[in-house]
Amino acid sequence: MNTMTIPAGIAGLEEEMIELRRRIHAHPELAYEEFATGDLVAEKLTEWGYTVHRGLGRTGVVGQLKVGNGNRRLGLRADMDALPIHEKTGLPYASKLAGKMHACGHDGHTAILLAAAKHLAQTKSFDGTLNVIFQPAEEGQAGARKMLEDGLFETFPCDAVFALHNMPGFPTGKLGFMPGSFMASSDTVIVTVTGRGGHGAVPHKAIDPVVVCAQIVLALQTIVSRGVAPLDMAIVTVGAIHAGDAPNVIPESAEMRLSVRALRPEVRDFLQQRITEVVHAQAAVYGARAEVDYQRRYPVLVNDVAMTGFAKQVAVDWLGEDGLIPDMQPLTGSEDFAFLLERCAGSYLIIGNGDGEGGCMVHNPGYDFNDDILATGAAYWVRLAEAFLV
Ligand SMILES: [Zn+2]
Ligand SMILES: [Zn+2]
Repeated sequence: MNTMTIPAGIAGLEEEMIELRRRIHAHPELAYEEFATGDLVAEKLTEWGYTVHRGLGRTGVVGQLKVGNGNRRLGLRADMDALPIHEKTGLPYASKLAGKMHACGHDGHTAILLAAAKHLAQTKSFDGTLNVIFQPAEEGQAGARKMLEDGLFETFPCDAVFALHNMPGFPTGKLGFMPGSFMASSDTVIVTVTGRGGHGAVPHKAIDPVVVCAQIVLALQTIVSRGVAPLDMAIVTVGAIHAGDAPNVIPESAEMRLSVRALRPEVRDFLQQRITEVVHAQAAVYGARAEVDYQRRYPVLVNDVAMTGFAKQVAVDWLGEDGLIPDMQPLTGSEDFAFLLERCAGSYLIIGNGDGEGGCMVHNPGYDFNDDILATGAAYWVRLAEAFLV
């Protein structure tokens, strides 16, 4: 932390933030079970004068604070859920719950946004409406989409929405911005191939779904290599094939599970279309039937160009170019804040969690959020809110 650049009000909250973050860390809750975390967030926001709404996305919490007569409305979002991972950090504040862990730093994001919310409630140094959005179930369960379905933006309209995520491997507290496509879409495809079961010694009386699957796997490899422009990112992974039990039995059916990713919405649509066509065509060649259950999960996260420029400028005005992660590149991970960005202009940014030796990646049982970046994150949210709500 650069103590010169952190406002005294935020610096004064640091001990409280660390204590809060570690308390959340010790009591992780999985997707849509963020009851105690939600209680804690709601209790704090209420104490600081926010109007608190609960239940959007089941366990989501939104705090609203209006100051002055300004008509601008800002949304800042943090995620609250933990992962089904058994923590192995050995830290004094490690998870008290076996098999559950804050291994993605959402404990830190929650603490950062709470600190900013507290500071802004004390200073009231903005003019307009501040919505602090604490969402459930970011990890694979689309809590952001659930909040939208429950009327997040109808109940709390926003002119712009922002979120941040810590990232190991980047220097401590440096901020990373990237306009346009920043994180990949992530879809799951379940393919069921039905043939005709039979005796392994009488293959001509059967339709072998194992052979059909083998052909499908190979044919799928050409979709990216021959169909997607070389400079576009696309991934088609067949992660599982399940069929049969015995060497002398041709099974009736087989199942394949695919993970599909892309960095542009058009490429994502193309992959869906071609995967579906290739699977059906390959099955037809061998007289088998195929069902394709194409589950569109997280969309491409597309940062609004103007809002990303604005967010970056706030950082540069505050910290100079030195405060930025230089040459930020897209990330192949996925993030359900993408759903909010489909509905509202905004930007998702990265805050470096430290790039030292031995640092763990998120989702690793040895990972821990870096408390040194709490104050930087909170101070950044405060500056962004002050710059946007004028
Ligand atoms: Zn995660
Ligand atoms: Zn995360």
